Amino acid sequence: MTQNTRIGFISLGCPKALVDSEQILTRLQSEGYTTTAKYSEADLVVVNTCGFLDSARKESLEAIGEAMTKNGQVIVTGCLGAEAELIRHAHPDVIAITGPNQHENVVAAIHDVLPPKHDPFLDLVPAQGIKLTPRHYAYLKISEGCNHRCSFCIIPQLRGSLVSRPVSDVLSEAETLVNAGVQELLIISQDTSAYGVDTRYAPSQWKEREIPARLEDLCMALGELGVWIRLHYVYPYPHVDNLIPLIQEEKILPYLDVPFQHASQKILKSMKRPAAEAKTLDRIYNWRKQIPDLTIRSTFIVGFPGETEEDFDYLLEWLNEAQLDRIGCFKYEAVSGATANQLPGAVPEEIKTERWHKLMALQKEISEKRLQEKVGQKIQVIVDEVNQDHIIGRSKGDAPEIDGNVFLPNTKFKIGDIVNAQVISSDSYDLWAE
Ligand code: SF4
Repeated sequence: MTQNTRIGFISLGCPKALVDSEQILTRLQSEGYTTTAKYSEADLVVVNTCGFLDSARKESLEAIGEAMTKNGQVIVTGCLGAEAELIRHAHPDVIAITGPNQHENVVAAIHDVLPPKHDPFLDLVPAQGIKLTPRHYAYLKISEGCNHRCSFCIIPQLRGSLVSRPVSDVLSEAETLVNAGVQELLIISQDTSAYGVDTRYAPSQWKEREIPARLEDLCMALGELGVWIRLHYVYPYPHVDNLIPLIQEEKILPYLDVPFQHASQKILKSMKRPAAEAKTLDRIYNWRKQIPDLTIRSTFIVGFPGETEEDFDYLLEWLNEAQLDRIGCFKYEAVSGATANQLPGAVPEEIKTERWHKLMALQKEISEKRLQEKVGQKIQVIVDEVNQDHIIGRSKGDAPEIDGNVFLPNTKFKIGDIVNAQVISSDSYDLWAE
């Protein structure tokens, strides 16, 4: 290998896949490989795929096809990599196929084609590793895999059962990121509330103390780093109530991303959702009573097999009561390999679309109302983008990529600054402040 060996890297899919990409790239850079954004300059291209929905699988297969045509030396990894036959059928000449979270195998496959010549150039790698997010925020993955078996999901088949990282590992990565200038850590996993269940909350040594691998304890320690801590994929298990005091003490942001997916008990049961039995509305009221400015984000699926008009109306009523701030909604897609495909009562596409529009229209009204209530309030805004005459940022209630923005006139701020502002107006999803 010469110092010019260049790897092209295509990263598709969710933040968890993005973290995998970052880890592979960090390892490659530590071994002296460089990266390029041009197919023509790459000695080899790695495609990190997504295999969750059929649309994502199609996109992944197309990305592999493009890399094959434009470069020809392609290694496939990620969720779709678990279906090697499908990939080989479409693209028989890919060099190697590895599954999700198999960093060692990807790197080994690259070594086979382009062996590293030198000892690792460890000094070429920044301490925080390679990040694909902007410098001021980073995703922090606390566990891999999932112990649930939701009927619409094939993630456990692709990524295996829950494996939690030791608290000391997570904290040391977090500290390195903060030292490198990260102002906001986005905590991700498949099921954040289940953190540590697999290790029976095994403690590990961090600085002068032992910390159990339990979400509350981890959040408490992360909160001491003095940056924004945002939790994603928090299932509403009873112990999530223990996070409320941490939000009140401003250790973590007043933001919870809780993927409810539905409200009808019948559908939740048929989806085999974790914590489906919980009285979620009561929980939400209780959380909001203690933290009035709590932002709750969620995702929902409409048109799940067996969803009747009655179930859907119940979901709309529930949303009216719950007044969630932010929502992502998906039309049910029959993912191959998911057990839900065998359920009776498939919902026709046009009804799924109709329900999707109805739900999004209701959510638009709710979001508009919730944001209107913020007009006149003093908020903090993290700066994401600086333009000549305005800056684009986010409030504590907005995660990057998926939530809204706050627009401010440009003064002297730079990316990553956290600015005090007053909200002057709002629309359905965004705020304007000064
Ligand atoms: S909790 Fe359910 S939807 Fe989420 S990864 Fe696990 S099985 Fe899939």
